[in-house]
Amino acid sequence: MGCIFCKIAEGTASADFVLNDGDVFAVRDVHPMAPTHVLVIPKKHIPALTDLAGSEDNVLIGKILSTAIEVANRVGLSDRGYRLVWNCRSDGGQTVDHIHLHLLGGRQMKWPPG
Ligand code: AMP
Repeated sequence: MGCIFCKIAEGTASADFVLNDGDVFAVRDVHPMAPTHVLVIPKKHIPALTDLAGSEDNVLIGKILSTAIEVANRVGLSDRGYRLVWNCRSDGGQTVDHIHLHLLGGRQMKWPPG
């Protein structure tokens, strides 16, 4: 079984795309935890944040963050605000081993998170 996010990136699995821009794409989460829940995903397969290759991946991380900000703008969340979440490995609650940034919005977020 291959990586589901790689399959979406390759076009061999379907997804609801919000944006597809070179190295990074954004799709709506299949199990949304908020009225708007989008995943911003690099096409490069990196299993977890702990696998980032230092400065080599800094540009990519910047692109993921700027894409999330652009997605928030496109879906109309910039004024109300939103939450960005990176889950990392087991304690962080990561379930798909290909890094992705969650964009959650459309409701009031709580703190601390669960
Ligand atoms: P995480 O738990 O941080 O690893 O987040 C993985 C997210 O990917 C979960 O919120 C899942 O609902 C979501 N997910 C899994 N498969 C798909 C898919 N095929 N399309 C869109 N979202 C997915």
